[in-house]
Amino acid sequence: MRKLASIQTITLTEPIPNADAIERLKIMGWWVVAKKGEYRAGDRVIYCEIDSLLPERPEYEFLRASCFKPAIQEGEVILQRAGFRIKTIKLRGQVSQGICFPVSIIPSAASLEVGTDVTDLLEIIKYEPPVPVGMGGRVKGAFPAFLPKTDETRIQVLEPLLDRYRGVTFYMTEKLDGSSMTAFLREGEFGLCSRNQWLDETDDSNVMVRLARVLDLPGKLAQIQQRFGFQPAIQGEVIGPGIQKNKYKLTQVDLRIFNLLDIGQYRLVDRPLFLEALSSVGLTGVPELGEIVLDHTIDQLVELSVGKSVLEQGAQREGIVFRPVSEQFDQDVGGRLSFKVINPQFLLKYDE
Ligand code: AMP
Ligand code: MN
Repeated sequence: MRKLASIQTITLTEPIPNADAIERLKIMGWWVVAKKGEYRAGDRVIYCEIDSLLPERPEYEFLRASCFKPAIQEGEVILQRAGFRIKTIKLRGQVSQGICFPVSIIPSAASLEVGTDVTDLLEIIKYEPPVPVGMGGRVKGAFPAFLPKTDETRIQVLEPLLDRYRGVTFYMTEKLDGSSMTAFLREGEFGLCSRNQWLDETDDSNVMVRLARVLDLPGKLAQIQQRFGFQPAIQGEVIGPGIQKNKYKLTQVDLRIFNLLDIGQYRLVDRPLFLEALSSVGLTGVPELGEIVLDHTIDQLVELSVGKSVLEQGAQREGIVFRPVSEQFDQDVGGRLSFKVINPQFLLKYDE
């Protein structure tokens, strides 16, 4: 689970060229800009990651001019309360991600260990932009328990991985900014899910339902089962008109796949078989960006993530996802070894 707010230590403070009043602080793998002299290396602080939505409290009022987000309402129902939204910003050329506060803002925090999650204690929630149109529709229920949800952890909170996997080869794919979709064939039953829900696969008002039909996903999953001998699920990103502002300027909706699962074994299929299975049924993966041997700092990986999308030269890519060719478990990820490095230029340009 992502910790939006936690107790952390500032490991480094550094000047920012041509800036007298501010400096940058290192917290885990993040750089945060703060007033000069406000903190020192070694200080324990409350660190709130980007996407935190802070409650309206006097101590956060200084954020109102730059960060206030009104509640999202549908009639009388409040879908998301109002608050102060923390996002990526750039100050004097320095990217700043997140915000920190002295531990003294919570009286009980003085005794809390580094790493303690204080998200709930501070009543912080994750800022979720309004749901894109055409993504709603009838649902069958919750996301099925026999499949993993799609997710990626940011490298900035996974610093120990850089030493642990130094020298290991990772393949990189472009992280696409669309909407996550899962399709499966289990005991002869075809199913379709959005990121968090099991969709009614007969509801044509949903763009994913229509796409699954156009691509003949039931037929293709049946072919995979027949050829490779397991009950398959595919997970990918739906991109195109109506989704995340169609950054890739596509003329029609498309699915780009990043996972193939063997449902019976609850296992992700390794890269070579993934590629073979996709090409055998004519499905497309997320764009490949090649391989690297890991020997990088977080700053170097962030540098590497900056670039344009393979799909549209005019668009910043959202980032890069790194995975080993053979699936493996990682203790810090708490699941399959895989992480994302988000392009800060993308966040500066598109994050509202
Ligand atoms: P986020 O969109 O920041 O929540 O990051 C996780 C999501 O990225 C996953 O749930 C996928 O839906 C999506 N995603 C987009 N492109 C990729 C990719 N190349 N590899 C893995 N996940 C991806
Ligand atoms: Mn996304």
